[in-house]
Amino acid sequence: MSRRGRLVGAAVAVVGLVASLASAPPLVDGGDRVSETAAVAPVEVAGSPLAGVRIALDPGHQLGNHNFPAEIHRLVPAGGFEKPCNTTGTQTNGGYAEATLNFRVARLVRARLRDLGAEVLLTRTRNSESLWGPCVDVRGEFGAKVGARLTVSLHADGAPSGDHGFHVIAPTSRSPWTTDIADASRALALALRSGFDATGVPRSTYVGGGTALSIRSDLATLNLSDVPVAMLEIGNMRNASDAHRMTTKKGRARYARAVVKGIRLYLDR
Ligand SMILES: [Zn+2]
Repeated sequence: MSRRGRLVGAAVAVVGLVASLASAPPLVDGGDRVSETAAVAPVEVAGSPLAGVRIALDPGHQLGNHNFPAEIHRLVPAGGFEKPCNTTGTQTNGGYAEATLNFRVARLVRARLRDLGAEVLLTRTRNSESLWGPCVDVRGEFGAKVGARLTVSLHADGAPSGDHGFHVIAPTSRSPWTTDIADASRALALALRSGFDATGVPRSTYVGGGTALSIRSDLATLNLSDVPVAMLEIGNMRNASDAHRMTTKKGRARYARAVVKGIRLYLDR
Protein backbone atom coordinates (compact mmCIF):
# COMPACT_ATOMS: atom_id res chain seq x y z
CA MET A 1 0.00 0.00 0.00
CA SER A 2 1.22 3.52 -0.69
CA ARG A 3 2.17 5.68 2.26
CA ARG A 4 -0.82 7.87 1.51
CA GLY A 5 -3.08 4.83 1.40
CA ARG A 6 -1.63 3.58 4.63
CA LEU A 7 -2.16 6.93 6.32
CA VAL A 8 -5.76 7.09 5.13
CA GLY A 9 -6.30 3.57 6.39
CA ALA A 10 -4.78 4.43 9.74
CA ALA A 11 -6.90 7.57 9.99
CA VAL A 12 -9.99 5.54 9.33
CA ALA A 13 -8.85 3.08 11.99
CA VAL A 14 -8.41 5.89 14.51
CA VAL A 15 -11.81 7.35 13.69
CA GLY A 16 -13.25 3.87 14.05
CA LEU A 17 -11.50 3.47 17.38
CA VAL A 18 -12.88 6.72 18.72
CA ALA A 19 -16.34 5.77 17.48
CA SER A 20 -16.05 2.35 19.06
CA LEU A 21 -14.92 3.85 22.34
CA ALA A 22 -17.94 6.14 22.31
CA SER A 23 -20.31 3.24 21.84
CA ALA A 24 -18.41 1.06 24.35
CA PRO A 25 -18.71 -2.33 22.63
CA PRO A 26 -18.07 -5.53 24.57
CA LEU A 27 -14.40 -6.46 24.66
CA VAL A 28 -12.97 -9.89 24.08
CA ASP A 29 -10.43 -11.04 26.63
CA GLY A 30 -10.45 -14.68 27.44
CA GLY A 31 -13.69 -14.33 29.34
CA ASP A 32 -12.75 -12.56 32.56
CA ARG A 33 -13.34 -8.95 31.55
CA VAL A 34 -16.05 -8.39 34.08
CA SER A 35 -14.29 -9.91 37.07
CA GLU A 36 -10.95 -8.16 36.56
CA THR A 37 -12.24 -4.71 35.72
CA ALA A 38 -14.83 -4.92 38.47
CA ALA A 39 -11.93 -5.15 40.91
CA VAL A 40 -10.98 -1.60 39.93
CA ALA A 41 -14.05 0.27 41.06
CA PRO A 42 -14.32 3.95 40.12
CA VAL A 43 -13.05 6.15 42.93
CA GLU A 44 -13.52 9.82 43.63
CA VAL A 45 -10.25 11.65 43.30
CA ALA A 46 -10.09 15.17 44.60
CA GLY A 47 -9.43 17.54 41.73
CA SER A 48 -8.95 14.76 39.14
CA PRO A 49 -5.18 15.36 38.85
CA LEU A 50 -4.93 14.04 35.30
CA ALA A 51 -7.92 15.94 33.91
CA GLY A 52 -7.20 17.14 30.39
CA VAL A 53 -4.33 14.69 29.84
CA ARG A 54 -4.65 12.23 26.97
CA ILE A 55 -2.51 9.11 27.27
CA ALA A 56 -1.85 6.37 24.72
CA LEU A 57 -1.30 2.80 25.86
CA ASP A 58 0.02 0.10 23.56
CA PRO A 59 -0.68 -3.46 24.72
CA GLY A 60 1.98 -5.36 22.76
CA HIS A 61 1.12 -8.05 20.16
CA GLN A 62 -2.34 -9.57 19.60
CA LEU A 63 -3.52 -12.95 20.82
CA GLY A 64 -4.28 -14.22 17.31
CA ASN A 65 -0.99 -13.15 15.69
CA HIS A 66 0.22 -16.76 15.45
CA ASN A 67 -2.82 -17.57 13.32
CA PHE A 68 -1.87 -14.96 10.71
CA PRO A 69 1.78 -15.60 9.72
CA ALA A 70 1.53 -13.90 6.31
CA GLU A 71 0.04 -10.76 7.81
CA ILE A 72 2.43 -10.39 10.71
CA HIS A 73 5.54 -11.22 8.65
CA ARG A 74 4.78 -8.46 6.13
CA LEU A 75 7.49 -5.80 6.24
CA VAL A 76 6.51 -2.32 7.43
CA PRO A 77 8.44 0.94 7.95
CA ALA A 78 10.36 0.90 11.21
CA GLY A 79 12.33 4.17 11.19
CA GLY A 80 14.71 4.17 8.23
CA PHE A 81 14.48 0.41 7.75
CA GLU A 82 11.80 -2.25 7.62
CA LYS A 83 10.67 -4.85 10.11
CA PRO A 84 7.92 -7.49 10.23
CA CYS A 85 4.49 -6.08 11.05
CA ASN A 86 4.44 -7.83 14.41
CA THR A 87 5.49 -10.95 16.28
CA THR A 88 3.61 -13.55 18.26
CA GLY A 89 4.99 -12.46 21.62
CA THR A 90 6.10 -14.87 24.29
CA GLN A 91 4.27 -16.82 27.02
CA THR A 92 4.79 -18.35 30.44
CA ASN A 93 5.89 -21.98 30.69
CA GLY A 94 2.27 -22.67 31.60
CA GLY A 95 1.04 -21.14 28.32
CA TYR A 96 -0.25 -17.76 29.52
CA ALA A 97 0.17 -15.52 26.48
CA GLU A 98 2.06 -12.24 26.55
CA ALA A 99 -0.62 -10.61 24.38
CA THR A 100 -3.22 -11.39 27.05
CA LEU A 101 -1.01 -10.18 29.89
CA ASN A 102 -0.24 -6.92 28.09
CA PHE A 103 -3.92 -6.36 27.35
CA ARG A 104 -5.10 -7.04 30.89
CA VAL A 105 -2.48 -4.81 32.46
CA ALA A 106 -3.27 -2.07 29.92
CA ARG A 107 -6.96 -2.18 30.83
CA LEU A 108 -6.15 -1.96 34.52
CA VAL A 109 -3.88 1.00 33.84
CA ARG A 110 -6.59 2.62 31.71
CA ALA A 111 -9.15 2.23 34.50
CA ARG A 112 -6.84 3.80 37.08
CA LEU A 113 -5.84 6.66 34.80
CA ARG A 114 -9.47 7.37 33.98
CA ASP A 115 -10.27 7.48 37.68
CA LEU A 116 -7.62 10.18 37.92
CA GLY A 117 -9.30 12.16 35.13
CA ALA A 118 -7.14 11.19 32.15
CA GLU A 119 -8.41 10.27 28.72
CA VAL A 120 -6.85 6.99 27.64
CA LEU A 121 -6.63 5.46 24.17
CA LEU A 122 -5.39 1.95 23.39
CA THR A 123 -3.70 0.83 20.16
CA ARG A 124 -5.92 -2.24 20.28
CA THR A 125 -9.20 -2.64 22.12
CA ARG A 126 -9.64 -6.39 21.70
CA ASN A 127 -7.60 -9.48 22.56
CA SER A 128 -8.71 -12.35 20.39
CA GLU A 129 -7.42 -15.49 18.65
CA SER A 130 -9.30 -14.31 15.55
CA LEU A 131 -7.42 -11.00 15.27
CA TRP A 132 -3.89 -9.85 14.37
CA GLY A 133 -1.97 -6.60 14.72
CA PRO A 134 -1.89 -3.70 14.60
CA CYS A 135 1.55 -3.53 12.99
CA VAL A 136 4.42 -1.87 14.81
CA ASP A 137 4.42 1.18 12.53
CA VAL A 138 0.78 1.88 13.38
CA ARG A 139 1.57 1.46 17.09
CA GLY A 140 4.49 3.87 16.82
CA GLU A 141 2.46 6.54 15.04
CA PHE A 142 -0.61 6.11 17.24
CA GLY A 143 0.21 8.56 20.03
CA ALA A 144 0.64 11.55 17.74
CA LYS A 145 -2.39 10.58 15.63
CA VAL A 146 -4.69 10.64 18.64
CA GLY A 147 -3.07 13.72 20.17
CA ALA A 148 -1.68 11.92 23.21
CA ARG A 149 0.79 13.53 25.58
CA LEU A 150 2.79 10.30 25.78
CA THR A 151 2.74 6.61 24.86
CA VAL A 152 3.54 3.66 27.09
CA SER A 153 4.02 0.33 25.30
CA LEU A 154 3.45 -2.72 27.50
CA HIS A 155 5.35 -5.95 26.95
CA ALA A 156 6.81 -8.88 28.84
CA ASP A 157 9.99 -10.73 28.00
CA GLY A 158 10.91 -14.31 27.24
CA ALA A 159 14.41 -14.74 28.65
CA PRO A 160 16.25 -17.71 30.23
CA SER A 161 14.22 -18.92 33.22
CA GLY A 162 16.90 -18.03 35.78
CA ASP A 163 16.59 -14.33 34.96
CA HIS A 164 13.86 -12.08 36.31
CA GLY A 165 12.69 -8.51 36.77
CA PHE A 166 11.45 -5.56 34.72
CA HIS A 167 13.26 -3.16 32.45
CA VAL A 168 12.34 0.01 30.57
CA ILE A 169 13.29 0.87 27.00
CA ALA A 170 13.67 4.33 25.47
CA PRO A 171 14.62 5.25 21.90
CA THR A 172 18.12 6.35 21.04
CA SER A 173 18.45 9.86 19.60
CA ARG A 174 18.70 9.29 15.85
CA SER A 175 18.04 11.88 13.17
CA PRO A 176 15.49 12.40 11.75
CA TRP A 177 13.43 9.87 13.64
CA THR A 178 13.76 10.38 17.35
CA THR A 179 15.85 13.49 17.99
CA ASP A 180 12.69 15.37 18.94
CA ILE A 181 11.49 12.86 21.53
CA ALA A 182 14.63 11.13 22.80
CA ASP A 183 15.20 13.22 25.92
CA ALA A 184 11.57 13.24 27.01
CA SER A 185 11.25 9.53 26.26
CA ARG A 186 14.25 8.76 28.42
CA ALA A 187 12.69 10.82 31.21
CA LEU A 188 9.44 8.88 30.79
CA ALA A 189 11.34 5.57 30.92
CA LEU A 190 13.14 6.63 34.10
CA ALA A 191 9.87 7.78 35.69
CA LEU A 192 8.33 4.39 34.89
CA ARG A 193 11.37 2.73 36.45
CA SER A 194 10.82 4.81 39.59
CA GLY A 195 7.18 3.74 39.61
CA PHE A 196 8.18 0.09 39.45
CA ASP A 197 10.87 0.55 42.09
CA ALA A 198 8.36 2.22 44.40
CA THR A 199 5.86 -0.59 43.89
CA GLY A 200 8.35 -3.29 44.78
CA VAL A 201 8.67 -4.93 41.37
CA PRO A 202 12.25 -6.21 41.07
CA ARG A 203 14.63 -4.76 38.48
CA SER A 204 15.96 -6.89 35.66
CA THR A 205 18.85 -9.18 36.48
CA TYR A 206 19.72 -9.53 32.80
CA VAL A 207 19.27 -6.13 31.08
CA GLY A 208 20.93 -2.83 31.94
CA GLY A 209 23.46 -4.03 34.50
CA GLY A 210 21.28 -3.09 37.46
CA THR A 211 19.89 0.08 35.86
CA ALA A 212 16.91 -1.73 34.26
CA LEU A 213 17.30 0.81 31.43
CA SER A 214 17.86 -0.05 27.79
CA ILE A 215 18.26 2.50 24.98
CA ARG A 216 17.45 0.98 21.60
CA SER A 217 17.35 2.01 17.95
CA ASP A 218 15.67 -1.09 16.48
CA LEU A 219 12.06 -0.75 17.67
CA ALA A 220 9.49 0.74 15.30
CA THR A 221 7.09 1.43 18.16
CA LEU A 222 9.67 3.83 19.57
CA ASN A 223 11.27 5.08 16.34
CA LEU A 224 8.02 6.16 14.72
CA SER A 225 6.56 7.93 17.73
CA ASP A 226 6.22 11.69 17.62
CA VAL A 227 5.27 11.92 21.29
CA PRO A 228 7.42 10.83 24.25
CA VAL A 229 7.37 7.04 24.33
CA ALA A 230 8.75 4.26 26.49
CA MET A 231 8.41 0.51 26.32
CA LEU A 232 8.11 -1.62 29.43
CA GLU A 233 9.19 -5.22 29.69
CA ILE A 234 7.39 -5.81 32.97
CA GLY A 235 9.19 -9.08 33.67
CA ASN A 236 10.39 -12.39 32.30
CA MET A 237 7.48 -14.69 31.52
CA ARG A 238 9.77 -17.73 31.61
CA ASN A 239 10.76 -17.06 35.22
CA ALA A 240 8.57 -18.74 37.86
CA SER A 241 8.44 -15.80 40.25
CA ASP A 242 7.67 -13.23 37.54
CA ALA A 243 5.15 -15.60 35.95
CA HIS A 244 3.34 -15.91 39.26
CA ARG A 245 2.99 -12.13 39.48
CA MET A 246 1.77 -11.97 35.88
CA THR A 247 -0.82 -14.71 36.18
CA THR A 248 -2.53 -13.49 39.35
CA LYS A 249 -4.96 -10.59 39.62
CA LYS A 250 -3.03 -9.26 42.57
CA GLY A 251 0.19 -9.31 40.58
CA ARG A 252 -1.31 -7.61 37.56
CA ALA A 253 -2.85 -4.95 39.80
CA ARG A 254 0.62 -4.31 41.18
CA TYR A 255 2.03 -3.85 37.69
CA ALA A 256 -0.80 -1.46 36.87
CA ARG A 257 -0.14 0.61 40.00
CA ALA A 258 3.54 0.78 39.04
CA VAL A 259 2.76 2.02 35.53
CA VAL A 260 0.33 4.65 36.79
CA LYS A 261 2.80 5.81 39.42
CA GLY A 262 5.46 6.18 36.73
CA ILE A 263 3.18 8.16 34.43
CA ARG A 264 2.20 10.48 37.27
CA LEU A 265 5.84 10.99 38.19
CA TYR A 266 6.64 11.90 34.58
CA LEU A 267 3.72 14.32 34.37
CA ASP A 268 4.43 15.64 37.88
CA ARG A 269 0.70 15.48 38.57
ZN1 LIG B 1 6.39 -8.29 23.53
